[in-house]
Amino acid sequence: MFLQDTIAAIATPIGAGGIGIIRISGPDAVKVASALFRSAAFDPRDPQSHRLYYGTIVDPQDGTSIDEVLLTCMLAPRSYTREDVVEINCHSGLTVLRKILELVIQSGARPAEPGEFTKRAFLNGRIDLAQAEAVIDIIEAKTEASLKIASSQLQGGLSAKLHALRDALIDITSHLEASIDFPEEDIDLHGARETEHKLAGIREELNSLSATYNEGKLYRLGVKTIIVGKPNVGKSSLLNALLGEVRALVTPVPGTTRDFIQETISVRGIPLVLQDTAGLHAGNDEIEKLGMALTRARLSEAELVLFIIDASRQLDERDQAIINELSNRQVIAVLNKEDLAPAVSTEHVQKLLPCTAVSISARCGSGIDQLQDIIYQTVLSFPHSSAADSIITNARQQDALVRTTAAVTSAQQAVHESIAPELIAIDLHAALQALGEITGETTADDILERIFASFCIGK
Ligand code: GDP
Repeated sequence: MFLQDTIAAIATPIGAGGIGIIRISGPDAVKVASALFRSAAFDPRDPQSHRLYYGTIVDPQDGTSIDEVLLTCMLAPRSYTREDVVEINCHSGLTVLRKILELVIQSGARPAEPGEFTKRAFLNGRIDLAQAEAVIDIIEAKTEASLKIASSQLQGGLSAKLHALRDALIDITSHLEASIDFPEEDIDLHGARETEHKLAGIREELNSLSATYNEGKLYRLGVKTIIVGKPNVGKSSLLNALLGEVRALVTPVPGTTRDFIQETISVRGIPLVLQDTAGLHAGNDEIEKLGMALTRARLSEAELVLFIIDASRQLDERDQAIINELSNRQVIAVLNKEDLAPAVSTEHVQKLLPCTAVSISARCGSGIDQLQDIIYQTVLSFPHSSAADSIITNARQQDALVRTTAAVTSAQQAVHESIAPELIAIDLHAALQALGEITGETTADDILERIFASFCIGK
């Protein structure tokens, strides 16, 4: 299916930089680009695919040069969208990018919607929906481990597994339906027992795939983590020690009452999304400055709390005030400054607060490895399954998997109870419908719209 119109967008982040890319896709992509591109080597009637052409973008109205560029045509079907795609590599600056896009639009393209290039890749059958979602996950990958999972999904690892399950379900359904259509011929080749056995196998595979979701979600979304402790216990020193050589990813979070900074650090590949570390960097004490109410609010959002104590001093009422806020939270107590003479032990802290406790020295770097192990084990407090070749990271996919499993379970039960094949077929069709939603075969249009709308423009 080829869509009729030609779309265009700036595909790189807007701002000063070496190179910016304008991407054009659709039947008129070459025609649109040819209207603005001047090059000795480029023949618009016979553009060579996958070749880089050097030339100039000019304003076709008055012939003025806009920028020196490199242009590539990727002719259908050998392109991202499977349509004709032209990419113009120009200099990256807000004005130049906007100007070239404007000329491209004047020459017959229309501005692309968010995710529309990837949507076309999906509609034209180059990738399925699970692969399209992996594109966003790659863009947003927080750690190398997250990237590896997303990349395997884009390569079709998950899709292949889902297709195998789908084929097995279709096989069972068609045998069953044959026995409904031709009851006198008694085509129940597998026999009820074998069918039940096969459904049990499928259910087991669905379950083991679903079981990867908690871990997959961790890799994709990270763990909201907060570092608390009274002043001078070593919170920012610990942050730096955890950061190591690697600079944290800093993302301003809009829509909050004040600007707050989120940093992501990788602990054994799991992204810890540290909440509001601005105060830690500034070296001043957030808790005292902003008061317990705000700390409470931040704590309530955190999935993991790193509670830092200066173990070279006795605990005081300020430590205790924090401890009072930590009941029912997932806490790791970090006893810092173990290089100094100890005044507090892990056992003592654990008497006051049920938690895992570890001694470290943020200054010397001792205990940091152990702390990372503890963090990793704490957040993966469910069966560890990263050995799985496919991991579910996405809530939509997990929801569809759960519905598939429920329908397969119901079919299995129905076979066991020798219920009429017509009723079993209903369950099997429900299972196929739910499974097909993951790869996009049976996904409703409004859901597709929503998925692609979450992409950035130009992707
Ligand atoms: P924050 O106010 O909790 O962020 O604490 P800082 O990280 O700014 O540290 C406060 C002081 O404790 C600084 O002088 C650090 O050098 C010192 N400090 C931090 N960690 C250690 C440690 O492991 N051992 C020792 N001896 N001093 C430390």
